[in-house]
Amino acid sequence: MNPFINLGIRHDIVNAISELGFENPTPIQEQSIPVLLTGSNDFVGLAQTGTGKTAAFGLPLLELLDFEENHPQALVLCPTRELCLQITNDIKNYAKKMNNVNVVAVYGGASIQDQLRQIKRGVQIVVATPGRMLDIINRKAIDFSQVKFVVLDEADEMLNMGFQEDIDSILSTTPDEKKTWLFSATMPSEVRRIAKKYMTDPFELTMGEKNTGNVNIDHEYYVVRARDKYAAFKRIVDNNPEIFGIVFCRTKIETQEIAEALIKDGYNADSLHGDLSQQQRDKVMKRYRERSLQLLIATDVAARGIDVNDVTHVINYSLPDEIENYTHRSGRTARAGKTGVSIAIINSKELGKIRQIERTIGKKFVKGEIPTGFDVCEKQLFALVHKVHNVTVNEAQIEQYIPRIMDEFKDLDKEEVIKRFASLEFNRFLDYYKNAPDLNAPADDFRREGERGERGTRDAGGKSEYTRLFINLGSVDEFNRGDLLGYICNNSKISGRTVGKIDVKGVYSFFEVNNGDVDQVMNNFKGVEFKGREVRIEISGEGTSTSRSGGGDRREGGYQRREGGGGYNRDRNNGGEKREGGFNRDRNKSAGGGGFRDFSGKPREDRPERRRRF
Ligand code: AMP
Repeated sequence: MNPFINLGIRHDIVNAISELGFENPTPIQEQSIPVLLTGSNDFVGLAQTGTGKTAAFGLPLLELLDFEENHPQALVLCPTRELCLQITNDIKNYAKKMNNVNVVAVYGGASIQDQLRQIKRGVQIVVATPGRMLDIINRKAIDFSQVKFVVLDEADEMLNMGFQEDIDSILSTTPDEKKTWLFSATMPSEVRRIAKKYMTDPFELTMGEKNTGNVNIDHEYYVVRARDKYAAFKRIVDNNPEIFGIVFCRTKIETQEIAEALIKDGYNADSLHGDLSQQQRDKVMKRYRERSLQLLIATDVAARGIDVNDVTHVINYSLPDEIENYTHRSGRTARAGKTGVSIAIINSKELGKIRQIERTIGKKFVKGEIPTGFDVCEKQLFALVHKVHNVTVNEAQIEQYIPRIMDEFKDLDKEEVIKRFASLEFNRFLDYYKNAPDLNAPADDFRREGERGERGTRDAGGKSEYTRLFINLGSVDEFNRGDLLGYICNNSKISGRTVGKIDVKGVYSFFEVNNGDVDQVMNNFKGVEFKGREVRIEISGEGTSTSRSGGGDRREGGYQRREGGGGYNRDRNNGGEKREGGFNRDRNKSAGGGGFRDFSGKPREDRPERRRRF
């Protein structure tokens, strides 16, 4: 017998989910469905995304509601529009063979009139994001007085996004006797609190250990210098020819810049962040879902609720500020029982954060080595060979050319043809990657970075000997602390030993100099330009006990925005080291197979060169 029937699900639903490919219940479905089907418990399910949560609550809802009645009986609240649409769609699919089931998606960023019309027509299951739901409630356009079940999906995300008050208001319009089912990937104290507030004696189910990430995810980290981060990231991507990944950045700007740099370097990538219109975001997501995009570069907020199966890699280009977000990020891979890899590219200062994440997810990271250029060549070559072996031949179309092709090759035996064909690409990879530098951060970096972090001493009276200065250069200009120290000392003619703490941010940095050196630094930097841009040094008020007039942390709008170029792909005209480009991997454009050529079939000639500043 079908195992879902054993769990108590009726035939027409089982038939519909069989068509979706659900043969066996996932562990969370197996354990929660029998409990939820009783309809008499509040429920807390601690489970990662991708574990089959939607069916775990969706199937019991379809069993428990009375579809002869056409008024709201169940409300599902979730954090994002994407998830809202996903859940609605899933429930509709489960109910495909049932009659009179009306599910409405209520979410922001789309016409409220349409949603109001759908509600008016009659609905039993409302799936909603909190903001729009409250709007509709305030318009008195919905009646929740007969709601029997409320589902809070991804409760931790909803709280992260500041929906607590909205949820309170929405739930206050539902009857006290309703049952509440809460699902969350993590159980921070805020979620615990709302569980306590809205539920009586809930049945608790923990899939895996508390806060534990999905066991099917391997976690890896790579330590690189800040200036090598982008090149290292591309090497990791190149070393995984079949990658279908989500790359997380910390800010919208970083997301945009990385995506632009990747596109310019010939990768099949695009960005997803909050500055895009809903329409643009939908378009990007559609391309990603359809796999015409290989790399999705996203911010945490934009990526919430993304439900795409078969994501092979999650790459943390920047680690999240909140550790909880790491769980959410990595949960985008290894969905529905598959395996996946979550990669963090870090600098030596961030090792502590990795250890913290390990403690939270209860799983160890493996330290990876950025592959050598030769490793990448080998990987790419065999991926190509494999692709050629498995390509579907269009017999009808190719047939007419076969005699001419055979004629061309008549003086070569099979082995020779294969060798030449492989060399065609391999020579190019080798050429491209020859002299590729080792991008792993040398071990002594750890010590050096650590030492500098300790600098910035105070005299016996507790007064700082240092003044903190702002400079409008940062990591987007490919400065790390060592680089910036050199740059400051060269230009201001002060000794490196007199420079204190250096704090490199994105488009600006702070550094400390001896109080006695401040004037020299400010004077010597007058008129200095970096790539045609005036370098500005200002005294920062933050963190100095000897602050001088005109201070103040310049973070708010004090620094210039970059004009033309972005942070990652700029040609530097004055230096030696080669920049690694990438292969053209736009599948749509590739001329069959390798993904290393553009549409013309010619090798790309515009591999950017990596150059150093000094
Ligand atoms: P969810 O956690 O609900 O977002 O589900 C993650 C993915 O697993 C979705 O694509 C579901 O369609 C799929 N899925 C859920 N339950 C099953 C099942 N029992 N068998 C196969 N796939 C499933």
